[in-house]
Amino acid sequence: MYPDAKCALIFRNPFELLIATILAAQATDKSVNKITPGLFSRFPTPESMLSLTQEELEQEIKSIGLYKNKARNILATCRLLVEKYGGQVPSVRVDLESLPGVGRKTASVVLAEAFQIPAIAVDTHVFRVSNRLGLAQGKDVVKTEEDLMKNIPMDQWRIAHHWLIIHGRQVCHARKPACGDCALTAYCRHHTGNDYDEEGEAK
Ligand code: SF4
Repeated sequence: MYPDAKCALIFRNPFELLIATILAAQATDKSVNKITPGLFSRFPTPESMLSLTQEELEQEIKSIGLYKNKARNILATCRLLVEKYGGQVPSVRVDLESLPGVGRKTASVVLAEAFQIPAIAVDTHVFRVSNRLGLAQGKDVVKTEEDLMKNIPMDQWRIAHHWLIIHGRQVCHARKPACGDCALTAYCRHHTGNDYDEEGEAK
């Protein structure tokens, strides 16, 4: 169904992906893509990003939600990258998750997209669609990620993350899933079971 599925964020290297993913928390990829090419052309490295003050970086990213927190986290992350990792983005989960503003989901995106390391980032779309379909039966994102890793072959984790996101954006909407237009009804627990509340979330 989605042969062209790929990461919707614009980036050229692990550093740009890391910063774009921090900015994308609770914001749309589209809003992030509007500002990052200009930002990265002027500040392409952690060292150059650190030439900005907190206030200056806030001005650069103020069209994105939570921009004050994000500016603080980005500068603190850049400082750690320079001081601890020689200005490079680490490719180990525990190191990534030690960076300010980087949780499990952001680390998974960076591992999968920047380093081609199998990982499944569970965002709101992945959580909703996989639980409706029955690919996962998780009350939270951690259990959902565990179920997905069990039920999807490891060599498809990276692409399956994108399939689920696109399906959630285009068809399996949060409030009113377009089941009439969905090619997956025959496989979907939403149709074969009835364990969902009126918003389509697993009970
Ligand atoms: S059948 Fe409906 S609930 Fe199931 S995946 Fe398709 S749109 Fe979502």
